[in-house]
Amino acid sequence: MTTINWLEETYKLKDELIATTQEFLRIKSVLDPATAREGAPFGEGIRAALDFALDVCKRAGMTTKDVRGYAAHAEFGQGEELIGILSHVDVVPEGDGWSTPPFAAEIVDGKLVARGAIDDKGPTMAAIFAAKVVLGLGLPLSKRVRFIFGTDEESNWQCVKTYFETEEMPTMGFTPDADFPLIYAEKGLTDLTLRQTYAAFQQLGKPAAEQAEARLVSLQAGLRMNMVPDKAVATLAPLSADSQTIIDRYRTHLEQTGLKGQAEAKDGLVVLHMEGVSVHGMDPKKGVNAGTELIYFLRTLVLDARAAVYTEVADRYLHRQHGGEALGIAHDDEEMGALTLNTGVLEYEAEGDALFRLNIRYPHSISFEKWSEILVERFGEAAFELEVVEHLPPHRVDPSHPLVTTLQRVYTEQTGEEAGIIAIGGATYGRSLDVGVAFGPLFPGRPDSAHQRDEYILVDDLVKATAIYAQAIYELAK
Ligand SMILES: [Zn+2]
Repeated sequence: MTTINWLEETYKLKDELIATTQEFLRIKSVLDPATAREGAPFGEGIRAALDFALDVCKRAGMTTKDVRGYAAHAEFGQGEELIGILSHVDVVPEGDGWSTPPFAAEIVDGKLVARGAIDDKGPTMAAIFAAKVVLGLGLPLSKRVRFIFGTDEESNWQCVKTYFETEEMPTMGFTPDADFPLIYAEKGLTDLTLRQTYAAFQQLGKPAAEQAEARLVSLQAGLRMNMVPDKAVATLAPLSADSQTIIDRYRTHLEQTGLKGQAEAKDGLVVLHMEGVSVHGMDPKKGVNAGTELIYFLRTLVLDARAAVYTEVADRYLHRQHGGEALGIAHDDEEMGALTLNTGVLEYEAEGDALFRLNIRYPHSISFEKWSEILVERFGEAAFELEVVEHLPPHRVDPSHPLVTTLQRVYTEQTGEEAGIIAIGGATYGRSLDVGVAFGPLFPGRPDSAHQRDEYILVDDLVKATAIYAQAIYELAK
């Protein structure tokens, strides 16, 4: 058989690919509960984008199925096994400050600029056109190929959840919704709340602190579990120490540590503000946690009994413990990296709840049961209870699996670059497939404009990705 020049074949469809992608991007497919209805659970915009994608597939000769507007698929080929290509038609809200209108899909300096250009409508159309290339060549396939279009990837993934309740799980597949060369492993992700109620604290039977300098009235830091908090505020009621003494000690502490913050006396109370550095919770050591830093100062005061317990556990187990070292859950994995612990939210109400909200990410070589049990035990001693808010187990496809090796080979053949495989601490859509990896569309070294203003995909990259996907589809399904 003569070898196929995939890029050349793709170029034959280039104009149609660009025009169709532009038309697709002009549909504002942002979550819109106001227009939600039966068959359009996330609103009319997303519904219209889903119909558009299905229509392009139908015209290419694929059969389609709509799963109540939560997701839909388009299929071609024949055989027992099923190759899945999972992408999403919804986009995040456009936000402000664009150089060209976010849904105009104009081409500026070789860039196709629009919300959804790289995440994920551009690559969705690239994959569909890749199938058109394969179909146009009339190549024989021994497997079925199915595009699965999700509709709320940017919010709650109800789409894939609902879809796979009734539909077939592909034998293997990829999602064009992240980076080239290939992401084959993703850490387990958990959002956890450790909560101590006032009643539970009372049952600890701690004697009242003698000679307390101040009573902690409240503390608040952070809004999201997966971010390092950059602001914290604590309110103290002075007891044996006066307001000015506490304020002076805090200012000295700030000077000595180089941290930023303020202190003020207000209505007989002292209010302390701490500033940190917010970064993504998947790599908390790069940030400065305003919440635990403020607690580190509070530990220098003699506080009331409950505050003493709260600040003690925070200081011991959470302050600068980005890998859970003091808890005894630190675990490094040569392949997938270390367990990471981020204390994203800290809250304390003197007679209400005291809590920590954590985001812990872990590699596949340590079990959730193992480390969470330790957490339950350690914090249980201080009357905190663990609530698992969210748990996504680690996702990994064996590097020697044909899915991985085939896509690596295709990537290398087309780019001339080595296809190193990547393990990440985040989550891609690939984990929705039992055997799934993320494969493109962002090429190495390109800035990632997803979710930002002036989101774009280079037209050349759109074409290149299409050619890569075309060969990938053929090699996986032949
Ligand atoms: Zn995406």
